[in-house]
Amino acid sequence: MKKLIVPVIIVLIIIGVIFWHHNAGAPQYNNRGASPTKATSATFNKQQYSLTDPTSLWVVVNKLRPLDPIDYAPSDLVSVGNGQEMRAEAASALKSMIAAAGKQGLNLYAASGYRSYDTQVAAYGSMVKAGGVSYADSLSARPGYSEHQTGWAVDLGTGNCSIDNCFANTPAGEWVAANAYKYGFLLRYPKGLTSITGYDWESWHYRYVGVSLATELHNTNTLTLEQFFGLPPAPNYQ
Ligand SMILES: [Zn+2]
Repeated sequence: MKKLIVPVIIVLIIIGVIFWHHNAGAPQYNNRGASPTKATSATFNKQQYSLTDPTSLWVVVNKLRPLDPIDYAPSDLVSVGNGQEMRAEAASALKSMIAAAGKQGLNLYAASGYRSYDTQVAAYGSMVKAGGVSYADSLSARPGYSEHQTGWAVDLGTGNCSIDNCFANTPAGEWVAANAYKYGFLLRYPKGLTSITGYDWESWHYRYVGVSLATELHNTNTLTLEQFFGLPPAPNYQ
């Protein structure tokens, strides 16, 4: 019997090595998201832009990620019509999207674009005065925590429906939901993902992230920036 022990150990080691190699080659899945997502394109570089620099195309702002500096203001704001402004690149993309919608006979406009730190201080402050902090938090971002302060976000409207989920059921709203990624825009607060984004569904709020990231998110069926970049969910302020 003793003569058998050495060969048996060798065979077990060989089986172990084969099994280990097999598992090392198994496909990897991204389990961070709330729902399974397709694998990211091998060629897509997630480190292309900063997620924290307030000037970055990919800056991620949420209830755990305030702008730094807190009173940041972009330097290249331009008009997007309706008395609203966005950063130049986003403004140009929005104008293209509005023109494309127009060609389909759809009315689309910017109801609210860039909002300054001071504007948010006033808006949030008056809501705190009216109903307290939790009331204010349910309706408005805290100053320094609003995506609108980056100059990359826009609230859209059509006809007399704007900044309301009536937008989702309008022809313009449906067209935007299907086509926004082609112009570099992302529906930032999708339905059912409040536990990740910190915001209830806002069918009218779009964030410009550029065509390459918006298309990658679309192609991989990834709904939030938090899931795509593996950032912690941000349901509440700290
Ligand atoms: Zn908004």
